[in-house]
Amino acid sequence: MQLNRSKQVAAGRQTAAPTSVRRPVVKAAAASTAAPSAKSTAPKQPYDRLFNFSAGPAVLPLDVLEEARDDLINWKGSGSSIMEMSHRGKEFDGVAKKAEADLRKLLNIPDNYKVMFLQGGASTQFAMVPFNLAGAEDATDYVVTGSWSKKALDEGKMFTKANCAAKGDNKSIPTGWSLSEGSKYVHYCDNETIQGVEFKSVPDVGGRLLVADMSSNFVSKPVDVSKYGIIYAGAQKNVGPAGVTIAIVREDLIGSARPGTPTMLDYKTHAENDSMYNTPPCWAMYICGLVFAKLLKEGGLPAVQANNEAKAKVLYDVIEASNGFYNNPVDPSCRSLMNVPFTIPKDAELEKAFIKEAAAAGMVQLKGHRSVGGMRASIYNAMPMDGINALAAFMKEFAAKHA
Ligand code: PMP
Repeated sequence: MQLNRSKQVAAGRQTAAPTSVRRPVVKAAAASTAAPSAKSTAPKQPYDRLFNFSAGPAVLPLDVLEEARDDLINWKGSGSSIMEMSHRGKEFDGVAKKAEADLRKLLNIPDNYKVMFLQGGASTQFAMVPFNLAGAEDATDYVVTGSWSKKALDEGKMFTKANCAAKGDNKSIPTGWSLSEGSKYVHYCDNETIQGVEFKSVPDVGGRLLVADMSSNFVSKPVDVSKYGIIYAGAQKNVGPAGVTIAIVREDLIGSARPGTPTMLDYKTHAENDSMYNTPPCWAMYICGLVFAKLLKEGGLPAVQANNEAKAKVLYDVIEASNGFYNNPVDPSCRSLMNVPFTIPKDAELEKAFIKEAAAAGMVQLKGHRSVGGMRASIYNAMPMDGINALAAFMKEFAAKHA
């Protein structure tokens, strides 16, 4: 009964949700070159939602948010919110086990890999990897293709003899990596969220142990997990809210952390306790579980990848066809399907107008990362094609007006 009542309330709210789009109030553009607002506006979204191109925390699928809303107060008729339950109770245990099982199915994770739901963000993995795989005097290799792999290298240097095996120009993937003799692992970032540089295949590291930061393209495409020692990813881009970091670790790499490794930084602690050594990020794990189930239902990662390729192509095509009005500096061979950075080379002031007018037209969070400026459209799994088409139409109209 309880369940029925809560479902009714939820359904009632859903139908009552306003369908009109409330646009943010946009002050007059600071730029003297600013033009009047573009006519092209995004189609109205349910619940006054806008197309959200944030790099993370980022857009989540609406049906996942709706299900979470319905479960928020009374999870599946249990009488409590999923946020209010013991992580050791049977309800949450079921949620956690299903989330892991669905992720294993999605990524076809071999049995000899552990899946862990951790805290501390991907940034904590920058330290956890060296603590678990190397000693202070061991050589490790890092490939730098942008800001995040550089951060990982800097952290690696604090705890190992970390070598920068190759450094890219933030626009391409460097060749001729000089890997050190006997290095314990090679770390790289599969998708640089800020620069929009993405690997299109698994790098060849000559049989060395490969460690990948997949924070911003996790479950955006099929991945051969067996090629990796460790894959880790913060959830807040493709799979859930901030607060949970997923680590997929080959079993034989667990249990040989260096002496002095803090308990919470030892993969063994989490592997032996099914991510329940201490209180896990329950709510974030629950949402990830909903996302994994949805992706499976919709055809798994091949379907996700095809969709992401189609979406990214629309935006890169607009950039390419703009006669230089827009610029994406990244080599076409490694352009990210997830993060599309672009500038307006002829006048940076126009970029400010672009961001403001896009927001007024229902497309938000398009400002580039503060370290690089310009614009960035993050188009993770949950960004629908409607949002891409709306942005493409806006970009074309803006360019035509200011060319
Ligand atoms: N790696 C990549 C590729 C990222 O995009 C980010 C976050 N933007 C991080 C690492 C750091 O993640 P967190 O904020 O979860 O520590």
